[in-house]
Amino acid sequence: MITLKNVSKWYGHFQVLNECSTQVNKGEVVVVCGPSGSGKSTLIKTVNALEPIQQGSIEVNGIQLNDKKTNLAQLRAKVGMVFQHFELFPHLSIVENLTLAQIKVLQRNKEAAREKGLKLLSRVGLAVHAGKFPGQLSGGQQQRVAIARALCMDPVAMLFDEPTSALDPEMINEVLDVMVELAHEGMTMMVVTHEMGFARKVANRVIFMDEGRIVEDTRKEDFFANPRSERAKDFLAKIL
Ligand code: ADP
Ligand code: MG
Repeated sequence: MITLKNVSKWYGHFQVLNECSTQVNKGEVVVVCGPSGSGKSTLIKTVNALEPIQQGSIEVNGIQLNDKKTNLAQLRAKVGMVFQHFELFPHLSIVENLTLAQIKVLQRNKEAAREKGLKLLSRVGLAVHAGKFPGQLSGGQQQRVAIARALCMDPVAMLFDEPTSALDPEMINEVLDVMVELAHEGMTMMVVTHEMGFARKVANRVIFMDEGRIVEDTRKEDFFANPRSERAKDFLAKIL
């Protein structure tokens, strides 16, 4: 579903990604972890073409991202992205947040978009809040809306960038529960997170990044039981 080959990226003279290669198969859940500044956010943004790369290649769902003919807007519509800060439109109601891109990007009619939005809203347990505005919901609820909004686009894969790290502790699980359910339903997911409980529960593989490199890319059992690099050992010792 997602293939990265020798991906390198620079911000000016600073190399943020260094020859990153990996593959995420359909239905796989891959957790990306590593120290702050190691390039995790940049890596998953490249998968959604939100950040251009200077070397290497990325293919998503059979589409070559670096091909000039590729319609990036269409690609982004098919790859859901959920950020640390929910980035809902504050001046739109919850249901409007859920329907906007369906109408504008997928050209769905208003009724179909609304029906889909409400269906996904109830799936994340928030049907009763359809008419409210984002500011009236808790952080955990807003993040669940953000997930529902991404799912409204019928994504082929979902990317998450530290979806729970801006949340109060008591709200983390309600968001992780939705993600666990998605994983069990077979969604292809790349998840940047330090929630190792989530990784243990649903990840197939763990990628560990350090200074722009993919230092480990292994089955989760091996990552937790037997991290190869010193950096990963240090990292695990600090967060577990
Ligand atoms: P992580 O998500 O692992 O914390 P990031 O991908 O956000 O790491 O950032 C990796 C490195 O790239 C950091 O050193 C960061 O300061 C730098 N960086 C990120 N975004 C930019 C940018 N737009 N311009 C310049 N440097 C950036
Ligand atoms: Mg980050």
